[in-house]
Amino acid sequence: MPYSRVLEVYREHLSCELVYFPDPLLLHQGHMQWLFDHEGNRYLDFFSGIVTVSVGHCHPKVNAVAQKQLSRLWHTSNLFFHPPIHEYAEQLSALLPDPLKVIFFMNSGSEANDLAMLMARAHSTNTDIISFRGAYHGCSPYTIGLSNVGQFKMKLPSGEGCQSTMCPDVFRGPWGGSHCRDSPVQTIRKCSCAPDCCQAKDQYIEQFKDTLSTCVGKSIAGFFAEPIQGVNGVVQYPKGFLKEAFQLVQERGGVCIADEVQTGFGRLGSHFWGFQTHGVLPDIVTMAKGIGNGFPMAAVVTTPEIAKSLAKSVLHFNTFGGNPMACAIASAVLEVIKEEKLQENSLEVGTYLLLKLAELRDEFEIIGDVRGKGLMVGIEMVKDKASRQPLPREEVNQIHEGCRRMGLIIGRGGLFSQTFRIAPSLCVTKPEVDFAVDVFRAAVSQHME
Ligand code: PMP
Repeated sequence: MPYSRVLEVYREHLSCELVYFPDPLLLHQGHMQWLFDHEGNRYLDFFSGIVTVSVGHCHPKVNAVAQKQLSRLWHTSNLFFHPPIHEYAEQLSALLPDPLKVIFFMNSGSEANDLAMLMARAHSTNTDIISFRGAYHGCSPYTIGLSNVGQFKMKLPSGEGCQSTMCPDVFRGPWGGSHCRDSPVQTIRKCSCAPDCCQAKDQYIEQFKDTLSTCVGKSIAGFFAEPIQGVNGVVQYPKGFLKEAFQLVQERGGVCIADEVQTGFGRLGSHFWGFQTHGVLPDIVTMAKGIGNGFPMAAVVTTPEIAKSLAKSVLHFNTFGGNPMACAIASAVLEVIKEEKLQENSLEVGTYLLLKLAELRDEFEIIGDVRGKGLMVGIEMVKDKASRQPLPREEVNQIHEGCRRMGLIIGRGGLFSQTFRIAPSLCVTKPEVDFAVDVFRAAVSQHME
C-alpha cells in the first residue's frame, strides 16, 4: 500500500488522535532498540512503544519462545490449566515481597487498575479513591476517573467516588524542592532550587491530609500512585512523601495501590519495582506494558486477604487474561532481564544518560529540568529557566520533529506536552546514548538559530 493511501486510510478509518507528527511514521520492522520505516530509514527508539518494549523489539529469545508456544497451544480460557501460567505465576510471585502473592492476569493496564479499584472497595468497604492530579491510570470507564492528565480530554462523568489530590511535583508545584528527588542528577549535581527544599514534602502532606478529610465519612477505599508519573512528564515526588501518604491511607483502613505499569520490571535500575525506591509496601501492585515486551499482558498482585474480599463480592473472570502465549512470552522476558542483567544496565546507562542530559540543561536556557531514574527520564522544556513557563507546544513540536528527522524517536508528556520522555528498551548502550544526546543537542540548537 503506497504511503499516500496509508494516510487516507488513517484519516478515514483509524481513530489515532495521538499519532505523533503530521506525516506519521510507518514502521515496518524492529530489531532490539532500532526501528525501520517503509523507506528503510533507521531510528533509534528511545520511547520503546510507550515505555513498553522492555528487552528490545523482536528479541531473538522471546521470539523463539513465542514461536514454540504458537505451534503448541494458543488459548484455553480460564476454565482449564496450562503449563505457562503456572510457571509464570511462580516466577512473578517470587519477585514480590510477602504478603503480595496472589495474581490475577489481565490484558492491559486499564483493566488491571479497574480490578484494583474493585478490590480496594471490596476490601475496605469504603467508596472513595484518591489519585494525583496529572496521574494516568488508564481510560476505561472506571479508571478514567483516576486519570487527571490535562492533555487528555477526560471530562466524562465517570469518576464517582474518585478524588484528585495535588500532585507533589517539585518542579511545577508551589513549594520548590527539586533537589529532594531521588535522581542521580539531583544527587551528584545539586540544582539551584529554593533552600526550603525539604519543607516541600510537609506542605504536600498537608494538602494530602486535606483531601483525605473530604472523603465520604472521612474514610477511604484506596489510593493509587505511580512511583514516578509517566504520562504527566516523568514527575518525581519529594523523598519520603509516598511513605507518609501510604501510612496515612493505611491507618484509615484504605488500600494502597502501586501502579507499576511504566516503572516495573527493572526500568528504574536501582530496584525491580518502583515502589521499592520509596521504601513502601503496597497492598496491591498493578503491572502491564513491559511485562510482555509489547504483547498484551497485565497483572494485579495482591494479598490473600484482599483476594478473599474480592471473591466475596464479585466473581472475577477474564477470557484472555493469562493466556498461554502471554504467559510464555512474559516468562521469556523475565529470563532475558535476568540473563542479560538489564536492570543493572538500566541503572548504569540511565545514570550516564541523566548526567549527559544535565550538561545539556546547563547549556540551553530552554531546558528547564532533567529528571528521572534508570531508563525513565524526562526533559522539561521552558521559555526560560527563571519563569519555568512551559515552552509553547509548536516549539516543542519543532524540536521533536528535528529529532525524528535525525533518526531519534522520543516521547512527550506533561500538562502542556512540554516534557520529552525518554524510555528506551533496557538493553540500550552508552554509544547509543551518545548518539541520542548529540541528536537532541542538534535539534535544540537548530531550533534556537
Ligand atoms: N497506568 C499507567 C501508569 C500507564 O502509563 C498506562 C498507559 N499509559 C496505563 C495505566 C494504562 O495502560 P493501558 O494503556 O495498557 O490500558
